[in-house]
Amino acid sequence: MPKGSFKVPIAENEPVYSYAPGSNERSRLKKSLEEMQSALTDIPMQVGGMEVRTNDQREIFPPHELDRVLGHYYMGDASHVELAIDAALSVRPKWQALSWHQRAAIFLRAADLITGPYRAKINAATMLGQSKTVHQSEIDAACELADFLRFNVQFMAEIYDQQPFSTKNVWNKMEQRPLEGFVYALTPFNFTSISGNLPSAPALMGNVVVWKPATTQLYSANIIMEIFRAAGLPEGVINMITVPGPVGGKVMSQHPDFVGVHFTGSTEVFKKIWKAIGDNVAIHNTYPKIVGETGGKDFIIAHKSAHVKKLVTALTRGAFEYQGQKCSAASRAYLPNNLWKDIKDLLLQDIKTIKMGSPEDFTNFMNAVIDKPAFEKITGYIDRAKKSDECEILAGGGYDRSKGYFIEPTVILTSNPKYESMQEEIFGPVLTIYVYDKNKYNETLTLLDETSPYALTGAVFSQDRFAIELASRKLVNAAGNFYINDKPTGAVVGQQPFGGARASGTNDKSGSMLNLLRWISPRAIKENFNPPEDYKYSFMEER
Ligand code: NAD
Repeated sequence: MPKGSFKVPIAENEPVYSYAPGSNERSRLKKSLEEMQSALTDIPMQVGGMEVRTNDQREIFPPHELDRVLGHYYMGDASHVELAIDAALSVRPKWQALSWHQRAAIFLRAADLITGPYRAKINAATMLGQSKTVHQSEIDAACELADFLRFNVQFMAEIYDQQPFSTKNVWNKMEQRPLEGFVYALTPFNFTSISGNLPSAPALMGNVVVWKPATTQLYSANIIMEIFRAAGLPEGVINMITVPGPVGGKVMSQHPDFVGVHFTGSTEVFKKIWKAIGDNVAIHNTYPKIVGETGGKDFIIAHKSAHVKKLVTALTRGAFEYQGQKCSAASRAYLPNNLWKDIKDLLLQDIKTIKMGSPEDFTNFMNAVIDKPAFEKITGYIDRAKKSDECEILAGGGYDRSKGYFIEPTVILTSNPKYESMQEEIFGPVLTIYVYDKNKYNETLTLLDETSPYALTGAVFSQDRFAIELASRKLVNAAGNFYINDKPTGAVVGQQPFGGARASGTNDKSGSMLNLLRWISPRAIKENFNPPEDYKYSFMEER
């Protein structure tokens, strides 16, 4: 146990490298890209320090180059979930007993490994496995993941610092116990940082974790495990398994020692998980914590006073970076008719210059979408819009999967503000625009608020303070992350804690103290230095 009130390092956001031609980081990254593609990566499950393989071996390939194999993983079944839960529970007593500053040191060290010797490798893996440009990978796999780890250590220390007040003869203390069982972390394909944060946040707070990444993110997930091991994380604290989602979900929700799920993914899957947990409530020793950040239908609304060029840049970057596969991606826009012609001209000019292809060609702004189901879902929306009387395809609309899952940046103009692509999450490079009467700003804010079940991110563009104030007030429940004169993507850990409400999740704000509070169970301790020695109170005396 520590003999001192240790202070943790003050967290700072990791600087984003430019990867400009001639830079050292660019040549290191190119070398890593070459090295990674010159050998096949074998990705077993990692359970209690053991590598677990099955006969069901499956290939991993880049979404932008379908005939190249990067490596393979092994699909497991329910028995592997059980194995991982057992491994986690067996290390739990030791991990919980370890001093908090030892846990902090492991994850701080992991952050330094990510931003130092592993930076090029984790970026290369994210670029190849998830089809991200170098910039998109750098802000995700290197910077955001390190930020999550460093800020979470600081937030943990701040939580531990918060103590109740004491009175004469009484000393009150608050102890933040880890949960009494295992936490299940379920992560999506689109962010390497989320993938690392969801298992590590509960583990940092002293919990043991079974982690099931999306198989489409396994190539970089494997490196996260390598980094955690190199940082000294004891075996069994985080166990990585590859099983079908519903198989893992069933074993998790039916286990008596299941104490929480840390989920990021689609709304549809989260609702299924919530139901399965509810159905099994009688089995659980503890009420499980259910934390889920889910889908979005993120908006940009421009007032008639908006600065057109800044607005158009926000639309282009917000909608098309990482092929629109960000939960925060701008996918519906409400634009005033007085500015529409200028906006349209500039937006179409921008889109004409967008290059799409492999992330290894640094001149590309866009790459491929993640897999065949995503490709089919997104192109379904495009095809229906092409046939609809209520829609006009202003840009893009083309797609091709002969080499990789490529979909052009697509802009749909609709006359129906409730058209399906104004309401539903597409999760691809598709932006739908509704042009409104510039004198109906107030009504359009109401329309926006009532159009979609989601409430994740959104932005208002205006140079008029009254219009900004009105949007902030009327859209108070429409977005958990609200932007003024900025694109609705690119939240930074410690600066804009991230998460939404309504169908977008439980809004536990990953990368903030609020999230870490979900992974502890406080114990209030009172010590009385002068307890009474007589049960009778003075009011009971006759005189
Ligand atoms: P997904 O819901 O398909 O998968 C998420 C995880 O759940 C995967 O590991 C998957 O295998 C698993 N899973 C699937 N079915 C399951 C079941 N029945 N029981 C238990 N687990 C199951 O999500 P995805 O396609 O990987 O990611 C994209 C989604 O994630 C989008 O909807 C996006 O908006 C959302 N997302 C949200 C945020 C946020 O912070 N709000 C961030 C990133 C992504």
